[in-house]
Amino acid sequence: MEFLQIKFRSSLFKGLQGSGRSPENLSFIKEIALTKGVDALYTFQEIWGNERLLQHLRMAVKKQKTSHAYLFVGSAGAGKRLIANTFAKYLLCTARQDEPCGTCESCRVFDSGNHPDVIHVTSPKKTLGVDEIRAQILETVDIKPYHYEKKIYILHQAHTMTVQAQNALLKTLEEPPKYAVFLLLAETTNAFLPTVLSRTVTLKISPLSEEEISRYLIEKGLVSGEEATFFAAYGQGCIGHALELIEDETFRQMRESILEKMSQLPAMSLPEALLLAKEWEIYKNDYRFLDIIGLWYRDVVVAKALRQEHFIIQKDKKELIFAAANEPTEVLAKKAAAVVKAKERLIQNGNFRLTLEVMLMEIKENGTQ
Ligand SMILES: [Zn+2]
Repeated sequence: MEFLQIKFRSSLFKGLQGSGRSPENLSFIKEIALTKGVDALYTFQEIWGNERLLQHLRMAVKKQKTSHAYLFVGSAGAGKRLIANTFAKYLLCTARQDEPCGTCESCRVFDSGNHPDVIHVTSPKKTLGVDEIRAQILETVDIKPYHYEKKIYILHQAHTMTVQAQNALLKTLEEPPKYAVFLLLAETTNAFLPTVLSRTVTLKISPLSEEEISRYLIEKGLVSGEEATFFAAYGQGCIGHALELIEDETFRQMRESILEKMSQLPAMSLPEALLLAKEWEIYKNDYRFLDIIGLWYRDVVVAKALRQEHFIIQKDKKELIFAAANEPTEVLAKKAAAVVKAKERLIQNGNFRLTLEVMLMEIKENGTQ
C-alpha cells in the first residue's frame, strides 16, 4: 500500500509539472489521491461543505457518544469516503484534540494505509455478498482490536449489499462488541432492509454548490478563474468529479474540439453538419460530449437573453458564445432541447449515428442560417 502511494504520487507529480500546476500543492495531491481511490490524509478543517455533519461527528467523538453504526449516504464523488476516513482516523487518534492529530502512532499507521484496526470491506463483484460479509466481518469481529480502543469496519458500496448479506450482518449490528464501529458508505438508502436502517445512524452527505466548488478550485490554485466556473459546472456538486476532469486530458481535448465545431455549425450546410454524426462516433462510449454541447447552448441562450458576461459559465469561450448568440432565444432553446432528447435516446440504447443525425437535423432546421 505504501509503495502504491509513493508510486502513484510520483507519477502525479509528473502530471502536475506537465500541466503547469505547482507540484508543491500538497492539498491538491491529497484530493487527487482520494479521487483515485488511495486513502488520503485529511483533517475535518480541510473538508469543504457538510459543516454541520462534520461538527456532529466531531462532538460525538469528544463526548464519547458515538454510535456503533453509521450510514453515510451521498452520490458518487460527494465525499463519503473522505468523511468516513477522517472520522475513523479521529476515532482512533490517541491525542484527543479537535482534529486527528496526524502525529500519534495511530494517525501515522492510519496514514500509511495499514492500520491494524481499520478493515475496508469490499467486493470483487458488483454486489457485496454474504461471502464477503462472513469472511471480512463476521469471522473477525469477535477478535478484539490489536492496539486501540476501536475496531472500525468501513463498508464500501454498501448499497450493493444483497439481502442475504444484510441479514447476515444484522445480528452483529444488533449486538455488536463494544469496540466495533461500522461505517457503511452508500449512494442510496433504498437498497437497505428497514431492520438494517433502524440499527444505523443515517447521515446525508450533500453535494457542494457550483459556487463552492469554483471557489475551492481557485483557492487551491488549480485552475484560472475563467476555467473554474465550467469545471465546477461539469463537476455537478462533486469536487472529486471536477478534479478528475481537470486532470483528464481527453476531456479537455474533447471539449475544445466539440466547442470549435459548435461555433462553426451555424455556417455549415445540412450535409456538412450531418457528417459530424460520423466524426463523433469516437465518442460512442463517452456521452460527456453531449453535456459539453448542452452547456454550450445553455451559455448561448443566457448570452442572448441577458447580454451579460457575468452569467456565462464558460467564460474562456465568451467570444464564441456571444458570436453564436444571434438567433432568437426560443430557437436556441429548441436546439438545446434536441441535445437533451439525444442524450435520453442514447441512454435508452438508441442507435448512436441515427440519434446524432436526428439531433443535428433538428439543430439545423431550427436555425435561421
Ligand atoms: Zn492522532
